[in-house]
Amino acid sequence: MNLALWLHRAGLSHGDRPALGLGARVIRRYGEVAGRAAKLAATLQQKFGLQPGERVAIAAKNCTDYVELMFGIWHAGLAAVPANAKLHGRELGYILQHSGARICFASDGLDAEIAPHAPSTLERLIVIGSRDYEALFAAEPIAPWPRDGNDLAWLFYTSGTTGRPKGAMLTHRVLAAASFAYASEVNPIAPGSPLLHAAPMSHGSGLYMMAHVARLGVNVVPESSGFEADEVMQLIDAWPGTSMFAAPTMVKRLVKCDAQCDPDHIKTIVWGGAPMYVADARAAIDRFGPRFAQIYGQGESPMTITTLSKQEIADRDHPRWAERLGSAGRPFGCLEVTIADGDDRALPTGETGEILCRGDVVMPGYWNNPEASAAALRGGWLHTGDVGAFDAEGYLTLKDRSKDVIISGGSNIYPREVYLAARGRGNPARAHKRPRGLGDRAARSAMGRGRRRLCGRRRRPRRARCAVPQWHRAVQAAEGLRVRECAAEEQLR
Ligand code: AMP
Repeated sequence: MNLALWLHRAGLSHGDRPALGLGARVIRRYGEVAGRAAKLAATLQQKFGLQPGERVAIAAKNCTDYVELMFGIWHAGLAAVPANAKLHGRELGYILQHSGARICFASDGLDAEIAPHAPSTLERLIVIGSRDYEALFAAEPIAPWPRDGNDLAWLFYTSGTTGRPKGAMLTHRVLAAASFAYASEVNPIAPGSPLLHAAPMSHGSGLYMMAHVARLGVNVVPESSGFEADEVMQLIDAWPGTSMFAAPTMVKRLVKCDAQCDPDHIKTIVWGGAPMYVADARAAIDRFGPRFAQIYGQGESPMTITTLSKQEIADRDHPRWAERLGSAGRPFGCLEVTIADGDDRALPTGETGEILCRGDVVMPGYWNNPEASAAALRGGWLHTGDVGAFDAEGYLTLKDRSKDVIISGGSNIYPREVYLAARGRGNPARAHKRPRGLGDRAARSAMGRGRRRLCGRRRRPRRARCAVPQWHRAVQAAEGLRVRECAAEEQLR
């Protein structure tokens, strides 16, 4: 099934319903957006000669055009390659080259950034909103091109922790499963429900766009094209029943924002993509009320591994409320999640190991990267690279990224443990400085704990040794929880 059918049908049955909002205004209705997607599809196929399955890139800041572009690309049987507008031109060039996209739609200004790095395979770089862009909608509309669920719909480039970005292949089936999961377990959508795209549409926020189209919601883009706390407050007031995806750093900025909004206008703020400290979650609930849900996912299983529902977050009287708030919730219904040791053996409840998952929402592999695909999907399970543990009630707590692990003296050191060990001994601000002697002792203690937790089966515990550079890396990686937040902050700038 082609996802393009969702917009196509909405255009047929509810052409007069609002589909797109820019700032506080409705700017397009479903009939118009569906018509534009069908015309764009005709141009892509007939004028540009793109064949079903070919890739079309979008390197754009958030804009309302994103919806017609994504659905137009699918309508033509093509695959979209949304790229983060904050990437350097060189990185965008790499994505264009690796995906083999012959056409790229870019925000005004980004075209100049991309042009010097554009690969020879790129035939057209079209500025969204330009005259050339508008000319694409002059063709006679065509019918949605038939697609199988296993056909590629979205090539999702993830930066990962090492190496070059990898393109997670998200098929029509994967995106449909993620959309159903969102609409049934995170945030049921009524017609007219606004979804505010303050987070990047090339990433998490965009992944919720399809469900809102399927359910006749309104995809709303701030005039700033991104996240400005004051503007978000105004838009919440302008759009009663607003939902949005927000990285924890965005939630924190909203909590601190001096501007006011009517919290009753917020339907659901979904946080995820990075750890949220319990204190921050509490502060957010105190300010805006029980209007939050959490998701844990990654590009390879888009927005869909576990969720902590709005009801669970609202249930302050529950004896384990605070504990649950510190977890990433329970697995979505559409997939299996397990915890495994370094040899992929399932670990008992309560033990810490790598989080693996499998199900319809998991990517079938990385684009043109059989080695990485085989490694990530070995044994039929997606190896998330995240480390966590289930409690007896089935709630998953994330602990670390396994890719940040340091192996020293034959032991796995999880950086967070090293950091916490250092913190436990003194001033955390001085942890970077590694006072003489303290680092080794702290590292030893962390390694001891790491060995007990993760390598308990090893019969021959070894004497822990930790070289100075490794210690620094450990602390830096342990700081990763914050570093990732800083990176997210950077993306929002
Ligand atoms: P990406 O593929 O860029 O979306 O990054 C996904 C990564 O973000 C995951 O593998 C986790 O390490 C992290 N992440 C996502 N959701 C959460 C969450 N709710 N809590 C903590 N970390 C998260």
